[in-house]
Amino acid sequence: MNTSTPSPLELVLAFANTHADAGDRTERFTDAEGLTNWLGEVAWSGAEPARTVTDSDVVEARELRDALVTVLLSHSNDPATSDPAVRSAEAILDRAGDKCPVAVRLSGAEARLGPGCGGVSGAFAGVLAAATELALSGQWARIKACRNEPCHFAFFDRSKNTSAGYCSTQCSSQASMRAYRARKKETLAKSSPSSRTTE
Ligand SMILES: [Zn+2]
Repeated sequence: MNTSTPSPLELVLAFANTHADAGDRTERFTDAEGLTNWLGEVAWSGAEPARTVTDSDVVEARELRDALVTVLLSHSNDPATSDPAVRSAEAILDRAGDKCPVAVRLSGAEARLGPGCGGVSGAFAGVLAAATELALSGQWARIKACRNEPCHFAFFDRSKNTSAGYCSTQCSSQASMRAYRARKKETLAKSSPSSRTTE
């Protein structure tokens, strides 16, 4: 369990990486208990989100998380992520943003954005506020989701030219192997046109 308040980057990545992959990562927002547990693991700044989580909160959490991942996939130039999918993801982020105000915390040393309400909506607003901080500091385009399906792991792209599309070399080689096989299959299909039954 974390004891210190996560940085905006840590919070956004933690929320985005609550979905399952093909390996050990499992879906965290399966039910009210799953979402409650996840909320309890984050050291929220400001008010603790209410622990009364409803089934509709869980649906909303998954919807918001998936929308965020879609936007992060667009940062990786994922060819499988279409413009309409990104637009509908942005609409979901907008709706979540409308539910709870973002509050300003200004001190002599720093300015932070945080949720202006409590409860589960406040937790979601905290994630959106963190993402906004990243965008305002010019880092938003570097927050990406891995193009390898179903990995889609959110990561910070530290490459010089912001060109990374995969979270690891393992994912990038898996994806190129898949592309190679697809090309090979296509070539084979072209070179033997429907002649299987006439041999
Ligand atoms: Zn990956």
